Amino acid sequence: MASEGKLRIVMIDGGLAGATLMNALLKHSHLSPEMFKSAPEFSERGAAVGIAQNGQAALDELGPEIAGSLDRAGAVVMTSKSDSDGPQAGELVFNLPGEQRGKVAHRKELLDKLPAPRPKSHMHSNKRVTNIEPVSGNSAYGSLKIHFQDGSVHEADAVIGADGVHGYVHTHILGPSHPALKSKFSDQRQYGWIGSGGFFMHDVLDGGKTLQCVTCAQTDEGHAVVMGDAAHAMTPWQGSGAGQAIEDALVLDVLLREVKDARQLDTAFKAYDQVRHPRTQRIITSNYEVGMVLCDRAAAGLEVEKISTDLLPRWIFIHSQD
Ligand SMILES: Cc1cc2nc3c(=O)[nH]c(=O)nc-3n(C[C@H](O)[C@H](O)[C@H](O)COP(=O)(O)OP(=O)(O)OC[C@H]3O[C@@H](n4cnc5c(N)ncnc54)[C@H](O)[C@@H]3O)c2cc1C
Repeated sequence: MASEGKLRIVMIDGGLAGATLMNALLKHSHLSPEMFKSAPEFSERGAAVGIAQNGQAALDELGPEIAGSLDRAGAVVMTSKSDSDGPQAGELVFNLPGEQRGKVAHRKELLDKLPAPRPKSHMHSNKRVTNIEPVSGNSAYGSLKIHFQDGSVHEADAVIGADGVHGYVHTHILGPSHPALKSKFSDQRQYGWIGSGGFFMHDVLDGGKTLQCVTCAQTDEGHAVVMGDAAHAMTPWQGSGAGQAIEDALVLDVLLREVKDARQLDTAFKAYDQVRHPRTQRIITSNYEVGMVLCDRAAAGLEVEKISTDLLPRWIFIHSQD
């Protein structure tokens, strides 16, 4: 527990997932959240990101200041429409209804427009995590020591890994010798890696050009969880990874606002996993299947009516969140 009696929550890194949660947790006076980012500055790469209705609703729940960041970032309201190729070329395949409007923003702008000020003393750049280890001793219930590439070390009651698909925190959770982390594949099949404390799965997609990875883990190695792409990287066919990261942030925010003692963190993180796991896994599968339909690798072929019947419900279950 921190010296001032606050729970020390460390966020590894400041992509969309980490930055959203960081802003949410700063509201709670019993928490002391800090963010460690590997890059020299707090910014985003990439171009546009579409935040669908479910992501917008989660941002609203996180508070009006956070919800307003989409508009402050100049987000543009969009509907979605697709035309076909093949014998029915040019025909409309689907047109997501008006009430399911997404908002599209520039990633960098969105990150920049998340509410300020975040206390400078809580934000650390140029900090790449190289190791995490449990702190020994009974008084340090589940707390962790985080080692950085520059040789510095930081202690926390809990670590939240928002460090993306290539991050370190899932290595800590699964353990460095977990077979998933050394996995190699040579043919196009789904591989599952069963190991102590964790399960890892990957599918080769798109004729071998894309790899989908799923990590599921339970750890006794202190209080550590993953969120965003670090927890459930998915193919981008339905543009839903950032929306899922925002939903993660909302669930963690709701749970952590109730956690007043480090001993309650286990229960909170277990509840987080139970709530988020089924939904994100379903969306991972749906993304993959949509990719197959969109590339004419599914039973629908290029028949407009079949494609439309197959695709439309796949967005509805994501956008109208449970
Ligand atoms: C082409 C494409 C289009 C997409 N379009 C959409 C869309 O329209 N809508 C949508 O909802 N989603 C979309 N997505 C998915 C979305 O971009 C991701 O799900 C989202 O950015 C994940 O955010 P994150 O913060 O979890 O991870 P990231 O954005 O990957 O951030 C992780 C951060 O961790 C850092 N890091 C890595 N290792 C370490 C370490 N050891 N120590 C410290 N830091 C570390 C990285 O440098 C990075 O800054 C798209 C994805 C792609 C590829």
